[in-house]
Amino acid sequence: MTTRPTALRIDPADGWLVGVSRVPSPNCDPRPAGAAPELIVVHGISLPPGRFGGGWIERLFTNALPPDAHPYFAEIAGLRVSAHVCIPRDGSVTQYVSFADRAWHAGKSVWCGREACNDFSVGIELEGTDELPYEPAQYAALAGVVAALCAAYPSLSPQRIVGHSDIAPGRKTDPGPAFDWPLARRLIAARCPPEPPLAPSLT
Ligand SMILES: [Zn+2]
Repeated sequence: MTTRPTALRIDPADGWLVGVSRVPSPNCDPRPAGAAPELIVVHGISLPPGRFGGGWIERLFTNALPPDAHPYFAEIAGLRVSAHVCIPRDGSVTQYVSFADRAWHAGKSVWCGREACNDFSVGIELEGTDELPYEPAQYAALAGVVAALCAAYPSLSPQRIVGHSDIAPGRKTDPGPAFDWPLARRLIAARCPPEPPLAPSLT
């Protein structure tokens, strides 16, 4: 018998998940006037590449990555990046940027003809690589965060989820072929109420 995880909830007043670990990142700014979250972007990240743990992702998102700790860190220590949420291998959830604000995760990107996806998207990083299967606990946590987002923002829906590679093709490959989209979509659908039926036409 399995126990349904406690539902996550977003405080609409400030755009932060309630009761979830918070590490505010300075790498964010206000969304453009009138912009709401309309798209969820799934990423994969590991620091250094292919290695898990160590707390380096948090250090990257808070501009505290020591450039001398690994040759790769020296290359990226000057980046100013963030995501709204990161889900490491153990399926825990840490939020870095309010969903009301713009996190700096997508870079040059386009979705349905619209550029600069950071303006209108939520970025969720899963600790992982393109090739190694993500953990079941990460899919479960992702579904919980997506359900909370869809409940808080009517402009989002379970259909409005893409990978970074989908909005930056040729430039980004994450979350990679290892990411099990059918599993993710099944878990998300199970956590999100179905779309309301279309209103009857007046004509
Ligand atoms: Zn990415």
